[in-house]
Amino acid sequence: MAIAYLNGEWQAPEEAKISIFDRGFMFGDGVYEVMPIYWQQVFTLDEHLMRLRRSLDEIRITPPFSDDEWKKLFAEAIERSGEETAFLYLQVTRGIAATRDHAYPVGVKPTVLVTVTAAPMLERESVVPYRMVTKADFRWGRGDIKVVSLIANGLLKNEALDEGFDDAILIRDGLVTESTLSNLFIVKDGIIITPPESRYLLHGITREHIIGLARSANLPLEERSISEEELADADEIWISSTEHEAWPVGEVNGKIIGNGEGGVVWQSIDTLFQESKKKMLTDAER
Ligand code: PLP
Repeated sequence: MAIAYLNGEWQAPEEAKISIFDRGFMFGDGVYEVMPIYWQQVFTLDEHLMRLRRSLDEIRITPPFSDDEWKKLFAEAIERSGEETAFLYLQVTRGIAATRDHAYPVGVKPTVLVTVTAAPMLERESVVPYRMVTKADFRWGRGDIKVVSLIANGLLKNEALDEGFDDAILIRDGLVTESTLSNLFIVKDGIIITPPESRYLLHGITREHIIGLARSANLPLEERSISEEELADADEIWISSTEHEAWPVGEVNGKIIGNGEGGVVWQSIDTLFQESKKKMLTDAER
């Protein structure tokens, strides 16, 4: 059952209401996180909390809760939902200010929203490689902050959909940044390559997890810029996000990548990924 926590109150998500003066609504003045829940536990919880703290710090909102308080709140949300496999969505905005002003209001309490909604565990059989198109990355210069204003990501995604693709791979100054909703990896001659962290892309938790898995398995991996030409010439391409885990790309701009299916390196990473999820379960049982 989906559940929402809004500023101290537990409700059905469709019942939850915010003020028209909430700065999240008026200005897109807030940040968010999407966390995966497997077997009633948040996967990579500490990493998500660390990114949340960084996002709040970057937009100058004092964290309304400590990490321990967040953890208690999330545990209660999961318990109330009763869901085994779900997404936990967290949004923190600057709060409610009756005067519409770019200047930050003083002494305002942030708005805190947490929802848990059921999401089936990803099955290998349901993973159909994406057909992608490249597009100029015209988003603002702070893609590293997980802000709620996703207008540019939405525009780019919908342009790609209207053109018959699944999503867009974004290019800034001739280099790949990410997709509209995920980070990106390529494989060339057995080497996994992903763009380095910068202000132009989200520092994805799934990206970081995959890098850790690859390094532990001694798979060669480089964090470095990827040119448009390298992208076109890649043996494998995959995207990564909380919702997609590691997801293969079969085609870019009409050109088939590899054999158009998930490649062998993607398969190894996906296997490691699934094992790392199960490890969370066995660790909890101990
Ligand atoms: N890049 C963008 C633009 C995203 O919106 C997301 C996820 O929403 C990601 C990357 C992947 O981040 P994560 O792995 O933390 O879900």
